[in-house]
Amino acid sequence: MDEEALDTQPRSQRNRNKFQHNGCLYVYDAQSKRDPHISFWRCERKWDKCRARIHVNDVRHAVVQMTHSHNHDESPAHCSAAKIVTDLKNRAQETAENPAQIISHVIEGVPREVLAALPRKAALTKTVQRQRGRVHMRPPNPTDLANLDIPEAYKVYHVSEDVTERFLLIDSKDLEPEEDHSKRILVFGREGNMSWAAQMKKIYVDGTFRQAPPLFSQILTSPAIPIEECGP
Ligand SMILES: [Zn+2]
Repeated sequence: MDEEALDTQPRSQRNRNKFQHNGCLYVYDAQSKRDPHISFWRCERKWDKCRARIHVNDVRHAVVQMTHSHNHDESPAHCSAAKIVTDLKNRAQETAENPAQIISHVIEGVPREVLAALPRKAALTKTVQRQRGRVHMRPPNPTDLANLDIPEAYKVYHVSEDVTERFLLIDSKDLEPEEDHSKRILVFGREGNMSWAAQMKKIYVDGTFRQAPPLFSQILTSPAIPIEECGP
């Protein structure tokens, strides 16, 4: 078969590369033992007993061989729709947007035939929620500060179902990515408090060592008083 350049690749749910070729998506399988520059990919519909596989030259990013044929349509619209669902899942993990915002973002400018190949909106909304459910499960406890990665869901404050604002305001690791991060400073606070920061009359600072979570030594709180009331 002819060698063809591969398209820009959508990422699979498991963050392993997927790519499309002639309207079908393939999932990475293994590297050739005989030639380390050749990788083996299998049709993503393997679950549907499709045995189609391709061999790819990694250096030239070209398909060099195809084995078995597909047991289903090779539809570019279905392939594009699968990529959109992958984008939707990634966006659900990486942003704090609500499902309607995510859906309208990923289907923006998408041709009608691809829209027709997409699951219905209610199903897409469920996909976003399922993805978020996974994110909201408590991640394993970090073993050191340098490798502590804070999930996106922990960085935002939900004002209401549709409105969120930043909650992790400063992470010293982001400020100086090249530095040694065995010491980390995280600053949490509602971004919305900036709107009344100019009216703060008094700012208090109080610290505790005893309540600090493992790996951290101190919690410092800084409540401020806007004219009469006191809020953190
Ligand atoms: Zn197939």
